[in-house]
Amino acid sequence: MGKTNLKGCTLTQMEEFLKQMDEPAYRAKQIIKWIYKGQTEFEKMTDLPKDLIVKLKDRAYISMINIYKKHESTLDETVKYVFLLEDGNMVESVKMKYSFGNTACISSQVGCAMGCTFCASTEGGMVRNLSWGEMADEVIAIEKDSNEKVSRVVVMGSGEPLLNYDQIVQFIKVMNSSLAFNISCRRLTVSTCGIIPGIIRLADEGMPITLAVSLHAPNDAIRNDLMPINKLYPILQLLDACKYYIIKTKRRITFEYALISKINDSEKCARELSNLLKDLLCHVNLIPLNPVEGKQIERSTSSQIRRFEKILMDSGISTTIRREMGSDIEAACGQLRRSLLMR
Ligand code: SF4
Repeated sequence: MGKTNLKGCTLTQMEEFLKQMDEPAYRAKQIIKWIYKGQTEFEKMTDLPKDLIVKLKDRAYISMINIYKKHESTLDETVKYVFLLEDGNMVESVKMKYSFGNTACISSQVGCAMGCTFCASTEGGMVRNLSWGEMADEVIAIEKDSNEKVSRVVVMGSGEPLLNYDQIVQFIKVMNSSLAFNISCRRLTVSTCGIIPGIIRLADEGMPITLAVSLHAPNDAIRNDLMPINKLYPILQLLDACKYYIIKTKRRITFEYALISKINDSEKCARELSNLLKDLLCHVNLIPLNPVEGKQIERSTSSQIRRFEKILMDSGISTTIRREMGSDIEAACGQLRRSLLMR
C-alpha cells in the first residue's frame, strides 16, 4: 500500500490516521503544527516519540512544492516564485513587503479558463485546480525561503478561486486556524472575476474574509470585451451578489480596476463607475496595468489614472492607486510562468 500524504489531512483525518496506528488523537495537533512550520521530516518533529516516528516514516510522507525559479526585484523587496508541483506543473506566487508585514499572493489553479483579455495566466487555458494543501504549500514555501512570517494572504494569482470552491474554503480555514497560520479573516482576501454563485456561497459561509472583485469596466459593453465571464454574469447581477456579500459579512468589498488606455480610462467611464458604486460599502483599487507581451493593450498615463481617481473620490468613493510592486520581475498575474512556458 502506498504512503499517505499528510499535507492534505484535516485535523479529523489526521486523528483517524493516528487511531488506525493505535496512537492518541492529541498527537494530530502536534503533527499539524510541524507541517505548517514547513517541516517535512518526521525525525525533526522533536516532541514526537521515537516509535511513532518509525511508524510515520513507514506509512506516511509530507509533500512539498519546490522552488523552480525565483526573481527578486531590485526596485523593492518583491520576490516572485515559480513553484514546481509534484506532477510537473508550475504555478506562480509573489511575496510583497509592506510596512505592516509580508503579503503572499498565491495561485489557486494552474492556468485559468476565464480568458480575460489583459491577463497572461489564461493563455494556455486552465490545466487543473490546486488542492488546498498545494495552496498552503505556496505560503509555507515563501515563509521557509524568506525566513519571515506571512501576515496577509491574497488569492489573486493565476486561476479563478471560486471555481475551485471547496479547496479554497478549506485553504482559508487552514490559514485562519490557530493550529496552522493563525491569520485573521480580515487579512485574507479572495479575488474573483465575478462568479455569482460562488460569491453567494462564500457570503453564507460565515467567514468574513475580504472579497475582491475584478471589475475593470463601468458597463457591460466594455466588460464583455475585457472579461468574457461578464456575458454569463453581467454587472448589475454581479453588484447584487456583492450587496448580498456585504450584508452577510459586514465587510467592505474591494473592486479592482485595471486602467487600460482608451478602453476604460476616460472621465466618462470614471463617472459611470461612480454612479454604479455610489451606494455600496466598497473600496476601489485602481491598477496601473502591467503590459503583457503580445497583447494589444496599453497602460493609462499617470495623469489619466490620477484624474480617474479624483472623479471617484469626489463622488465619495474610497479609492487608491495600487502601488506598483516588482514591475522589473514580471510580477503581474501569470507573466513569469508564461515566459518560462514559452522558452
Ligand atoms: S484575470 Fe484572473 S480570472 Fe481573469 S484570466 Fe487572469 S487569472 Fe483568470
